[in-house]
Amino acid sequence: MSCIIGIDLGTTNSCMSISEGGNAIVIQTGEGPRVMPSVVAFTPAGDKLVGIVAKRQAITNPKDTITSIKRLMGRKYEELEKETFNVSYDIIPNDKGDAVVKIGDGRTFSPQEISSMILQKMKYRAEEYLGEEVTDVVVTVPAHFNEIQRKATKAACTIAGLNVKRVLNEPTAAALAFTDAVERRKIAVFDFGGGTFDISVLQVVNGIFEVKATTGNTQLGGDDFDACLVDWIMDEFKREKGIDLREDPVAPQRVREAAERAKCELSTALETSINLPFIASSDQGPVHLEMSITRGIFEGLIRDMVESTRPLCKQVLKDAGITHEDLETVVLVGGSTRIPMVRQLVEEAFLQEPVHSVNPDEVVAMGAAIAGSVVSGQRKDLVLLDVTSLTMGVETLGGVMAPIIAKNSPLPIKRSKMFTTAVDNQQVVGIHVLQGERDLAEDNRSLARFELVGINPAPRGVPRVEVSFSIDANGILFVNAKDAVTGKHQEMTVNPSGGLSDEDIRELIRDARQSRESDRDRIKLIENRNVADQLIYEATKMIKTSSDRLDRESREDLESALSELRTARDGTDIVSIEKAEKNLSIVMHTVRNIMNMVDTLDEKDSSTDVSTLDQENGIN
Ligand code: AMP
Repeated sequence: MSCIIGIDLGTTNSCMSISEGGNAIVIQTGEGPRVMPSVVAFTPAGDKLVGIVAKRQAITNPKDTITSIKRLMGRKYEELEKETFNVSYDIIPNDKGDAVVKIGDGRTFSPQEISSMILQKMKYRAEEYLGEEVTDVVVTVPAHFNEIQRKATKAACTIAGLNVKRVLNEPTAAALAFTDAVERRKIAVFDFGGGTFDISVLQVVNGIFEVKATTGNTQLGGDDFDACLVDWIMDEFKREKGIDLREDPVAPQRVREAAERAKCELSTALETSINLPFIASSDQGPVHLEMSITRGIFEGLIRDMVESTRPLCKQVLKDAGITHEDLETVVLVGGSTRIPMVRQLVEEAFLQEPVHSVNPDEVVAMGAAIAGSVVSGQRKDLVLLDVTSLTMGVETLGGVMAPIIAKNSPLPIKRSKMFTTAVDNQQVVGIHVLQGERDLAEDNRSLARFELVGINPAPRGVPRVEVSFSIDANGILFVNAKDAVTGKHQEMTVNPSGGLSDEDIRELIRDARQSRESDRDRIKLIENRNVADQLIYEATKMIKTSSDRLDRESREDLESALSELRTARDGTDIVSIEKAEKNLSIVMHTVRNIMNMVDTLDEKDSSTDVSTLDQENGIN
């Protein structure tokens, strides 16, 4: 069996890993950092950008730069209306009421499609790294994701040409990256990312992982810290300069980027500065934003939000039926756990220091890769017990949900419950299948509806209808409703694809397959242009700053190679760009050597001068 890659498809960043000899190794995304921003952009030139290149151009192209797509996966538009959602692009309902993205030219994309673009790039990177086609994947989702969101994630993988071997809860993946097989352990996973906060308690017994309890806040993350800091910066700027940057079309995005950078710096430094030249203009000319911010100020801004996670830590222990003394390990996941104040809270809440040995950005992907090695049979010392993430049940009289399968039940599972009719002579009962932890049906997610007809007329409360739920190892739910008197029954398979029909998915796979080759070329072109831009910048700087040290021939060589690369960079021929890049690199290297040689000779000359002088002065 070929390698199964583990993918953490994150709200802010995504990461992938493979298992080599049982150990998880993170695969570089090819852009330097080991994680890839989960960002897709559509440029005015008609390009589709994914990852760091998409993130970089967000300032100038906010409407067509799609971030945080994970928050839209498998969601209805009306659900999102109740949430604060800090993105610059448009979200609209499609004809089924699902949330979709609308870009400037009027095209719409389902969240599955956008996610598939991120996944496709990761697949491509993994293939480059491994030198073989990659088809199988273990993908992770938050523990609180419902069936529809899970299926939407699966659909995104399918569109990207990936075959999902397992959809794994993120905390389970994090725990897997830490735990030796045969250990018996209770682990808390504190996951604080860009958009969400999750806290879970897992129990590992003889290699079997079980999520005992999970809670969190789907509306809290590092993005909220950024937003607070942005507000503070803008208020300060307004107070000092009398200019409201919120009214500017571009400035807020620049401030947001600078705020995030400052936030990250404050995780290690006690003070940092923010410099944004030419952020605004006044009658006196351009106005620059220059201010410093201390960790103390930042902590004051985020304190309430960080503190709001403390009672949830208590809650999760209570739900899992354990105390902090039973807890062997606390694992940190997500970029926001780098904030010292967050780490301190974790330590206080669990009365133990969290483990720091694995990078919080990579731990989930690494766990997914380990899960991949379990699924492929490479590792036989672990068992991955899938559990239901949320309670499943049916709606009963008064809109109340009656649970049939409790959350965290190991799969596969089958459970039944008897129901009866609500009115006299009722011949039809509606089966409304629900998922969620709330008491009222309307607060839970509706998965499906169907009817059982032909019940014998009888006074209410007499007929007996048995509703059975069974979920197979792949998480597919089969529902059966049977009239115990007549034996009549009705059944259905609940396999939601997160808002897309099978035909939709098939069509998207066809499209994605067709565009895959051209996408690869586009990615290569964009990367080469990035390298070219860097070289052009360095060569231009060399000419400018070393003009007095450059001889005429070197300068001409540099200028000619530079101009060749500039021309190639503006074209679309990758081979020409690569050739021109190589040529300019060689010229720069040679010129640097010449300059160094001249410097050395000059030094020698001047040292000779000195000794001569010394001799003249009779020091020697
Ligand atoms: P994730 O969703 O796990 O990729 O986490 C992304 C979030 O972590 C973003 O809000 C980042 O700004 C934040 N983040 C990343 N590195 C740091 C850091 N060194 N200090 C504070 N926040 C960080």
